Amino acid sequence: MTNALVFGAGGLIGSHLVKRLKAMGYWVRAVDIKEPEFSKSPADEYLLLDLTDYESVKKSISLHGHPFDEIYQLAADMGGAEYIFVGDNDTNIMTNSVQINLNLIKAILELGMYSSKIFYSSSACIYPEEAQLDSSIVNLVETAAYPANPDSEYGWEKLFSERLFSALHKNYGVPVRIARFHNVFGPEGTWTGGKEKAPAAICRKIASANWGTEVEIFGDGEQLRSFLFIEDALDGIYALMKSECVLPVNIGSDMPVTINQLFDIVADIAGKRLKKKHIPGPTGVVARNSENTFVFQQTGWKPKTPLARGLEKTFWWIADQIT
Ligand code: NAD
Repeated sequence: MTNALVFGAGGLIGSHLVKRLKAMGYWVRAVDIKEPEFSKSPADEYLLLDLTDYESVKKSISLHGHPFDEIYQLAADMGGAEYIFVGDNDTNIMTNSVQINLNLIKAILELGMYSSKIFYSSSACIYPEEAQLDSSIVNLVETAAYPANPDSEYGWEKLFSERLFSALHKNYGVPVRIARFHNVFGPEGTWTGGKEKAPAAICRKIASANWGTEVEIFGDGEQLRSFLFIEDALDGIYALMKSECVLPVNIGSDMPVTINQLFDIVADIAGKRLKKKHIPGPTGVVARNSENTFVFQQTGWKPKTPLARGLEKTFWWIADQIT
């Protein structure tokens, strides 16, 4: 039986990943500072640990003295635009997330556990700002990462950590896989409180709005983005782990929409006629879309869930939370 260690198992992607691995017959140790908020984890072991603490990481990466077959490093201090792009949380975002990655690498080296295949979750936020300022050129090919100039400290930390894991592969032969996720969404993700991302925030606002009222959108709503449904992200993780690719790959949808269009799709699902009220707020770059040629060549993966289908599942789940 394959065994896996999942860091960040209390979060959106981690909690769904644990369910998927269990359904595939894995033995799973899940680790997070918190339990998943919305359903009980099916992990064989669930450890509540602060992964910025080195001893906690060291004790979690070995299973009865042996390395895990697979380690998924999804733990990070992160959130949506109101958390990442406002600047107030930059020190926490950078130090907490990089510390977790440093701890993992140090523990692997100290215990000599070089055989675990490691999945590291990077982000589309690593791409340079100037490649995302024109909505007519939006497809981010992996090689566009350099020369580097991410528009947030979150992006810089992810880029540095990609390099940490690449160095671990180069110097010690550790099998490493790196995914740059582009806006993953789905049921059982944070939907309120300031760390939620655009699809969840828009679903919540529309679910709570009365017919005919105004709903707030940050900026002019013309920011272009692509959104990947969680089940497609899990398929992408699986395909990447099975592949031989050690270079970072995009795991995102390549069908972008504007935030105004995203709003209209969700309003249709809700069956509500609403007015958009554009207000000042954190918006991030002008345009960002995943370029999937390389990931498809390397892994055979491409997303298959239409955006409206994923949003339908997410909207009704959030609407249920509100009532
Ligand atoms: P999430 O915020 O839902 O999950 C991250 C988890 O890490 C949380 O459960 C949190 O409690 C845990 N964590 C944070 N600090 C910790 C600590 N010190 N000790 C233990 N656990 C800690 O995020 P997610 O959407 O599931 O994303 C997973 C990974 O993918 C993250 O690394 C994120 O940066 C990356 N990513 C996600 C997206 C996306 O759209 N969801 C996009 C790009 C990259």
